[in-house]
Amino acid sequence: MDLFTTEIKFLKGVGEHRAKLLNKLGVFTLNDLLEFFPRDYIQRDATSSIADLEIGRRSSLTAEIVSIRETQRGRQRQLNVVLSDGEYNLLCTWFRYGIWLTDMLQQGQKVWVSGMITSFRDQFQIIHPELEVLDKGEDTTNFWHSRSVLPVYPLTDKLKIGQMRYMIYNLFRLYPKDIEETLSQEILEKFGWEQRRISLQKIHFSTQPEQVAAYKTRYAFEELFYNQLMLAKVRRGHEREKDGRAFELKRTYTTQLKNSLQFKLTSSQKKVIREIVDDMTSGYQMNRLLQGDVGSGKTIVTLFAMLLAVENGCQAVIMAPTEILAEQHFLSFTKYLSEMDIRVALLKGGNYKGKKKTKEEIKSGDIQIVVGTHALLQKDVEFANMGFVAVDEQHRFGVVQRSLIPSKGDNPDLLYMSATPIPRSLALTVYGDLTVSVIDEMPPGRKHITTIWKGEGRRIDAYSHAMKEVREGRQIYIVCPLIEESEKSDLLAAETLYDDIRSTLMPECRAEILHGRMKNKEKDEIMSRFKNHEFDVLVSTTVIEVGIDVPNAAVMIIEHAERFGLAQLHQLRGRVGRGSAASFCYLVAYYPLSKEGTERLRTMVETNDGFEIAEKDLELRGPGEFFGTAQSGMDLFKHANIVRDRQLLIHARAVAGWVLDNDPELNSDENMIIKKTYERLYSEREKLFNF
Ligand code: ADP
Ligand code: MG
Repeated sequence: MDLFTTEIKFLKGVGEHRAKLLNKLGVFTLNDLLEFFPRDYIQRDATSSIADLEIGRRSSLTAEIVSIRETQRGRQRQLNVVLSDGEYNLLCTWFRYGIWLTDMLQQGQKVWVSGMITSFRDQFQIIHPELEVLDKGEDTTNFWHSRSVLPVYPLTDKLKIGQMRYMIYNLFRLYPKDIEETLSQEILEKFGWEQRRISLQKIHFSTQPEQVAAYKTRYAFEELFYNQLMLAKVRRGHEREKDGRAFELKRTYTTQLKNSLQFKLTSSQKKVIREIVDDMTSGYQMNRLLQGDVGSGKTIVTLFAMLLAVENGCQAVIMAPTEILAEQHFLSFTKYLSEMDIRVALLKGGNYKGKKKTKEEIKSGDIQIVVGTHALLQKDVEFANMGFVAVDEQHRFGVVQRSLIPSKGDNPDLLYMSATPIPRSLALTVYGDLTVSVIDEMPPGRKHITTIWKGEGRRIDAYSHAMKEVREGRQIYIVCPLIEESEKSDLLAAETLYDDIRSTLMPECRAEILHGRMKNKEKDEIMSRFKNHEFDVLVSTTVIEVGIDVPNAAVMIIEHAERFGLAQLHQLRGRVGRGSAASFCYLVAYYPLSKEGTERLRTMVETNDGFEIAEKDLELRGPGEFFGTAQSGMDLFKHANIVRDRQLLIHARAVAGWVLDNDPELNSDENMIIKKTYERLYSEREKLFNF
C-alpha cells in the first residue's frame, strides 16, 4: 500500500464524510494523517486536584461529571456541567454550544478539561473549557484505554478526538510495513535520528511528551531538505543545461549611458552591475534576483543590463505591475537614452491608439526596449529577438505570470527586481533557485527620513509641520486606510480626512484625493499632476504604495499607522526622502494599540533599514502572511517554521548541496530513498520553477 498516494477515505473508519472533514485539516492521503501531529498531550493520571486551582490561571485536570444542566433565560441558553474529583467541585459553563456536546456528555463520565479558572458564587468555574471525554469513542480495542498519555489533535467541530485517535491507531495497526523511510541512512546517522516509523510512533503514542520536540525536528528538516534539494536542482539545471546567449560587453551603449549619468553610481550599484554582466556574458542563462530597498537605484542598474542586450542586437523587456510604474520607467528610459539611437516603446493594457503599430514594431524588432504591464503577457505580443527580461516588483506577479514572459524569447537572461527586502531565510526557501544581488547602500545625499510617532491627541503637530513645509514649497503625502466612512469601522476615512484638510487642518493648501475606486486614467492623471506640483497635498489610500517618484515630497503623514503592516509602512515611507530636502514620516496611532501594533511602530521609528524591518516583519507575522497571495504558488511548510528553524535550514541547505555534489542524478544506492521521495513529492513542484 502506498501511503503517499492512497486517499484518506480508504482508511478503515474514515469513509467519504469524514474524509471531507479531514481534507479541511489538510489531510488528503494516508501519509498526511501519519504526519498530522498532536498539538498537545494529556497525562491521564496527572490530576491536579480542584482544591489546588487558582483563579486567573490556565489549568487542566481530569474529573468526573456529576451533573449536566441546560437552562434557558430568554434567548440565552446555557449549559452547566459540574465536575468532581471526589472532594471538590468545578463548574463548567457554555453559552454557545452544539447538540454534539450535549449528546456526548453523560453523568459519570471521566473527562479532561482545560481553560482559564474563574469563580462563580464561591465555586471554581471554567467558561467554554476545552473538554474531552476520556473513556469514550469508537475505539473498541481498548488500545487507548490503557495508555497513560493521550495525544490531542487540532480538530474541526465535527470531528471528535476519539475518532481521530481511532483512525491514527488503525493506520499504524494496519500498515506497519508500509510506513517507508524518506531520508537516507547516511543523513539519519549524521543527525542521530530514528527510523521514520519509529519516530512517528513516538510522536503519536508518546509516553514522554517532553521528548516529542526532538522527534519532530526530523520532519521540519525533511521539508527544508527537499525544498533545498529542489531549488539546488533547478539552479544547477539553469546553470548547466539551459544555454543562454553569451553576450559580449561591447561598451557602446553601456559606456554611453555611464558617461551620460548626472551622478556617480554607488559602489553597491557597481558591484551588482558587475555580477549581472558576468552572468550575461557567460554562456548560461541568468536567473537573478535584484534586491534593494526603495530608492536604492535598481532602475539604472537594470537599464545597464538592458543596454548590454541591446548592444548585442537583442530586444530587452521590462514588465511592471502597474501602468503608473511602467510609464515612469518609460519616461526615465526615454530621457536616459535620448542621445542614443535606440527605440523605446510602452505597451499597456486595453485598447488605445497606436497599440497595434507598437505590437508590430515589437514583433519586427524595430523597437529594442519594451516597457510594459501585464499586457506583455497577451498571446498576440510577440518579440523578434528577446534577449533580456526584467520583472519589476516581482512579488506582485504570480509564479506563473513571471514564468510566462521569458517564454516569449529563447532563454533570455532574467532579472527579478524586488524592493521588498526578503529576509535571508525566506530568500533561501522561496527564491533559492535564483542567485541574489543586493544593493545595500543608498545613493549619497539621500536625506535621512525622520520618523515620528504621534498619538491621536497630538496629530495636529504633524499637520502644522506639514503646513510649514508647504509654505516652503514642498509637497505632502497623507495616507489613510479606508476610502469612506463605514458603519462597521471607526477608522478615519480618506474622504472625511480630505474634507478636514480643506476646511480646518491645512486650509491654505491645494489638496487632492486619490483612491482605489477611481479609474486608472483618473489615478494616473492625479499622480502626474502631483508630480508636476500642480497641487501640494495628496490624500490617498495605499494606492501610492508602488515605486512612485516625487522628489519634492518631503513629509508623509500616515493616519491609523497602527493598522498597517511593517512592510507596507516601510514601502509607504520610501515615497519621501527622494529629494534634497530633509524628510519626515509621521505615524499617527489611534488607541487602543495591540502589542504587535506597538512593536511595529517602534520598529519603524528605530530603523530605516529595510532588511532589519523585513526580519522583524517575518518574526511578527510568520512566513505565510509575509508574502500574501501573490506567492500562492509557493508551498509553505507543514512542520518547519523558517523563523524558528533558521539554523536547521542552513543545515538542510548544506546537506542538499553536498548530496547533489556527490551524486547529481541521485543514482547511487545510498540515495535511492531520496530520489524516490523527491520524485513522488517534489517533481511536480519543480516544474513550476523550470522555465
Ligand atoms: P528603486 O530602487 O526604488 O527602483 P530608483 O531606481 O527609482 O530606485 O532610483 C531612485 C532615484 O535615485 C531615482 O531618481 C534615480 O535617478 C536616483 N539614483 C539612482 N542611482 C543614483 C546614484 N548612484 N546617485 C544619485 N542618485 C541616484
Ligand atoms: Mg523601482
